[in-house]
Amino acid sequence: MPRLKTIAVREATPTSDYLEQSEALFLTSSFRARNAEEARAKFANELDGYIYSRFSNPTVRSFELRLAQLEGGEDCIATASGMSAILLIALALLRAGDEVVCAHEVFGATIRLFGEVMARFGVSTRFVTLDNMAQWQAAMNPKVKLLFLESPSNPLTRVADIQALAQLAHANSALLVVDNCLCTPALQRPLALGADLVMHSATKFLDGQGRVLGGALVGSHTLIHDQLYPVLRTCGMSMSPFNAWVCLKGCETLDLRVRAQSANALELARWLASHPGVQTVHHPGLPSHPQHALALRQQDGVGGALLSFEVRPRTGESARAAAWRVIDATKICSITANLGDTKTTITHPATTSHGRLSEAEREAAGISQALVRVAVGLEDVEDLREDLQRGLQA
Ligand SMILES: *Cc1c(COP(=O)(O)O)cnc(C)c1O
Repeated sequence: MPRLKTIAVREATPTSDYLEQSEALFLTSSFRARNAEEARAKFANELDGYIYSRFSNPTVRSFELRLAQLEGGEDCIATASGMSAILLIALALLRAGDEVVCAHEVFGATIRLFGEVMARFGVSTRFVTLDNMAQWQAAMNPKVKLLFLESPSNPLTRVADIQALAQLAHANSALLVVDNCLCTPALQRPLALGADLVMHSATKFLDGQGRVLGGALVGSHTLIHDQLYPVLRTCGMSMSPFNAWVCLKGCETLDLRVRAQSANALELARWLASHPGVQTVHHPGLPSHPQHALALRQQDGVGGALLSFEVRPRTGESARAAAWRVIDATKICSITANLGDTKTTITHPATTSHGRLSEAEREAAGISQALVRVAVGLEDVEDLREDLQRGLQA
């Protein structure tokens, strides 16, 4: 069995008769049959072969095969975006009367998908604190079919005990789904820790250069092929071949990028932690992180490319002004909410990603006005340090 870095550049569907060296982009909506009998056999599943790109395309399949192997799963299904991957889970695995238990600390749209959209279809969701095992336990009952989390969380980098939560899910005959967007299989492989499905927003590190939207789910053949695939085939939240090709090529540099960006992040986190203008720094690689030991155990030591920090003072109008001053003083960092890009991005969560919450809800979530989030890219770390220093010393 090849190792991760080999899989990342080699795993794909067989080449065409042209023996192309770089995987081909099959930008076609449908595939022909040689005669009527072959068309019949393909539709009857008696013959392997591509039919129509809503549910079968060689470039998309190459991306799926590569990601399945990277995550150590039996199979993978690609989707149009990260959110459509979660929608596919919901449509395929849940029915009215079922319950979901989801961490508070997940992507904002994930909260709305479960809490608002699925609620209209009779699926109710209870939100719990990511690192509070007692709350997860208290939420269990026979109606719970799915547990959903991200680890580490964005922007505070809280870490969940994936192994313990997988055991809890299975004791309740439920599935554990882990959004592995922030770590990617380069740093963390949730299936090996007992998770049933890994979810990706391929938009982030898998593309890795901020170009396309994409999503994916990895898990057992039974879940992916038998349960999720028929729903995607019917409902059509499919990944475009072009986007699959971009993400397929992105996988080839995934390990290098994620490691280099994480090393940059850890270096910046250490520097920020010693800066007099900074109150607190959140990064799993810092010994001061409350779940540093767990993070070291379940993800690779470098801890990921995302960090956040609080400037002084921590509360009130002056806190927001100080945070905005840091953001506005940058000349290199991009002010945008995306992450996983080679270009470093910087945001003020309290007035952007978490801007719709009330001040009380925000405080409960730990998102203060002083908080600044940085998704660290591949620039020279000295330039990034100078970029942040400008606003911090002001
Ligand atoms: C971006 C993101 C999503 C949603 O993915 P899209 O590709 O934007 O639909 C889900 N989870 C996490 C952690 C994300 O960062």
